[in-house]
Amino acid sequence: MSPERYQRIRDMLAKRQTDLTVCLENVHKPHNVSAVVRTCDAIGIHRVHTVWEDKYKLRGGTAMGSQQWVRQTNHDTIGEAIGELKGQGMQVLVTHLSEKAVDFREIDYTKPTAVLFGQEKYGVTDEAIAMADQDIVIPMVGMVQSLNVSVAAALVLYEAQRQRELAGMYNEQHLAEEECQTLLFEGGYPRLVNMCKRKDVPYPPIDENGHIAADESWWQQMQMSKDALSALKEDEASK
Ligand code: SAM
Repeated sequence: MSPERYQRIRDMLAKRQTDLTVCLENVHKPHNVSAVVRTCDAIGIHRVHTVWEDKYKLRGGTAMGSQQWVRQTNHDTIGEAIGELKGQGMQVLVTHLSEKAVDFREIDYTKPTAVLFGQEKYGVTDEAIAMADQDIVIPMVGMVQSLNVSVAAALVLYEAQRQRELAGMYNEQHLAEEECQTLLFEGGYPRLVNMCKRKDVPYPPIDENGHIAADESWWQQMQMSKDALSALKEDEASK
């Protein structure tokens, strides 16, 4: 990849917030999932969590394809998802209008935080509400009772982004270097990624110029055939 593309990916990775995430509970319209993931990428979320009960299953995960830069973890149940997020020390906020809900701007998002968003028609489940630490709400004073889920996510996430920016949390890298290397290779050499997967060869390291810094044995494992060479050239040329 070109040094410019390498730097662009590096700059993005340096701002990823590993302790801020969203969990989508049965949000099943592909355009909504895509829009939320796009906002996640924009504010520097590295991983999103999803739960799709059988009746809401997405076809082939198509909606997630819109953002190659945001990782996804799918959970079988909301209980498992919240259990894992709490296990990582996150405060779990659920977007839900209730007696005990607080205005979303009152929350301290500089803490490790997961925000749960619910299904388009029915919202979040009772189980999610029971397990979460805090209900939050975006004030509504008009005639409609709720916002589109992707709009709600954008509002909450940009408040989190604002607070974290002020706290200097975008000034230092949080993502482990190993994960950065993986994303650099995936973003810089997509055709070689496919070949690695096909041949079951580990990803190579990427140097500070964006070049593959693999030893001879890696190239041999890749059996640097005409195919691999042309894939490398195409990857280099397309950036
Ligand atoms: N009738 C549903 C309910 O009672 O929750 C409405 C679901 S709403 C269209 C879909 C999701 O968007 C909600 O589960 C929540 O995550 C989010 N949402 C929409 N409006 C919201 C608001 N004013 N405050 C907080 N979250 C909101």
